[in-house]
Amino acid sequence: MRQTFALLLAVMALSVSSSAQGRPAWLDPYRGNAEKLMTAATADQFAWDRVAELTDTYGQRISGSENLNRAIAWAAETMKKDGLENVHTERVMVPKWVRGVESLEITNPPHHIVPMIGLGGSVATPPDGIEAEVMVVANRDELTKRSAEAKGKIVLFNVPYTNYGETVAYRSGGATMAAQHGAVAALVRAVGPTGLRTPHTGGMNYADGVAKIPTAAIPAEDTMRIQRLANRGLKVRLRLKMEAHFEADVESFNVVGEIRGSEKPDEIVLVGGHFDSWDTGTGASDDGVGCVVTWEAARLMKKLNLRPKRTVRVVLFTNEENGMRGGNGYRDQHAAEAANHIMAFESDSGVFAPASLGFTGSEAARKIITDIGTLLTPLGLQNIGPGGGGADIGPIATLGKVPMMAYSGDSTKYFTIHHTPADTVDRIEPAEVSKAAAAISAMIYVIADMPQALPK
Ligand SMILES: [Zn+2]
Repeated sequence: MRQTFALLLAVMALSVSSSAQGRPAWLDPYRGNAEKLMTAATADQFAWDRVAELTDTYGQRISGSENLNRAIAWAAETMKKDGLENVHTERVMVPKWVRGVESLEITNPPHHIVPMIGLGGSVATPPDGIEAEVMVVANRDELTKRSAEAKGKIVLFNVPYTNYGETVAYRSGGATMAAQHGAVAALVRAVGPTGLRTPHTGGMNYADGVAKIPTAAIPAEDTMRIQRLANRGLKVRLRLKMEAHFEADVESFNVVGEIRGSEKPDEIVLVGGHFDSWDTGTGASDDGVGCVVTWEAARLMKKLNLRPKRTVRVVLFTNEENGMRGGNGYRDQHAAEAANHIMAFESDSGVFAPASLGFTGSEAARKIITDIGTLLTPLGLQNIGPGGGGADIGPIATLGKVPMMAYSGDSTKYFTIHHTPADTVDRIEPAEVSKAAAAISAMIYVIADMPQALPK
């Protein structure tokens, strides 16, 4: 793969003149350095190794955990060793939700353990659990129609996964929907394509003025089994036990490192991902890899001694998953320089092939980003789609009216392991991590170094 890539670069460099074949002439001064960055990124599997080091050493990094604090200290130390500049942490207070021990079993018909995972933010059951008959519904409308049956039951939402944005409504709001009809607990079919009987966790919220009932996800396979049992007229009884609870907010930190701009250091090109994760897998695709591939942009510039005119700022945000305190804290702490942000880039959708780059901003800016995209042709990432943005960069981008970009992996692969015990580094190909780092570093370098600021 590596040799093929180098060959492609050589062919590109030799065969086409600047004006031909959609190679904008204004980019000519940047071709050499962009190619150097892409070659360095794809020369080895440094980036994958760093994701493995992070996730093997520190494991899951849920907000408020010792793991996350230790990982944050490691990241700041490692950025310094990389030679990044102005490396520091920025304090924010984050919620601390603790899962505790949890279980779900079918008590009748014959006893059976059901794999489950409590949803982030859920309350506990009483210590002996909640045992009740299950009521399976296909959606909110069916629940409303059969409202009279819901009282005292455990409502199970058997909502097949379509896409994340749509299906996640039941994970976020299912407990409140069920409680409004008198249910004692709510279960949701895992939000993701059917995997290997994996339940998916994720954040949920209670509505004000509605009873807070415990809530968890179960795999698609178990949901369908319970559905079939119910269809045959069997009354399925479940016992749910959860110890989940919140403790007092604790200190956490965004990690910041920079390559200071040579001519316009106050103009900032922001890149990053979120450093916290759910407590199930080891937060490799969500979002250790996003942190590493954006951090790579700065590390590679430093390594190759490339200092763009503007500042490249890497931020590893804390608490994206269950509070957004990192992204909101960054906005609040950097409000005075919000408008100085030229572009904000986030990687928080994994790097699974086929990956793509997305942009959200003005047409004038899109034209420039599309031009820069032509540099990524050897990576196959030259087409810049819609969908720039990210949860962590959203707050500062909104405040400063900043154009946004995203690197997104294949969503079917990503959402199969998303928020599950299967989100580990083993599922990520080293070449896919290198490729993301290559594309992001070349794109960010040109944006940070081009003569005119990217228009808003
Ligand atoms: Zn994420």
